[in-house]
Amino acid sequence: MAKYTGPVCRLCRREGVKLFLKTDRCYTGKCSFDRRPVPPGEHGAGRRTKVTDYGLHLREKQKTRRVYGVLERQFRNYFVEAKRRKGVTGEQLLRILESRLDNIVFRLGFSGNRIEARQLVRHGHFQVNGRRVDIPSYLCKPGDIIRLSAKSRDSVKFKILAEGLGIRPTPTWLQLDASDFKGTVLHVPSREEIDVQVAEHLIVELYSR
Ligand code: SF4
Repeated sequence: MAKYTGPVCRLCRREGVKLFLKTDRCYTGKCSFDRRPVPPGEHGAGRRTKVTDYGLHLREKQKTRRVYGVLERQFRNYFVEAKRRKGVTGEQLLRILESRLDNIVFRLGFSGNRIEARQLVRHGHFQVNGRRVDIPSYLCKPGDIIRLSAKSRDSVKFKILAEGLGIRPTPTWLQLDASDFKGTVLHVPSREEIDVQVAEHLIVELYSR
């Protein structure tokens, strides 16, 4: 499946929930979903289709994929890995998604959304345990230290960013040291520590059909 390059607000309207894919706009009256919470398209507002059982499962998977910005093939690979791990498959899937480097950069507050975080990682602004990592899907593990590279700290963009670092609450499974532009993965998050509102069991059921 190709990468989606259209307006991201359409995705929120398509899924029927706010996915918070933009930055400040998501929290203001400018949010497209708040202003027009109907499916996109000319007949979106008047469309009354009965959602099938399959559709329900599919939408949950699509919603999760879009929150984390993962393409279909990679998402399925994550599911295979989650199934291989011990424990509840749906929760393991969310744990894998949460441990992506781009997600952690976003969670630590280095970016306003995951799309921006992915771009920052790709541009090589971050190091993991002292080594430059420019792969957004890099999976971090407990004990890993994610740090903004020394060179990037001098750029205007990150000087502005530094002022806002630490304002957003940091998840309990991460630790932010704003003064040193670094974050540490304390432990693998529990389901309660992941604030993404999805019914992950529906994704497991979808892929298990
Ligand atoms: Fe979704 Fe944010 Fe756009 Fe609102 S502003 S529709 S939450 S991406």
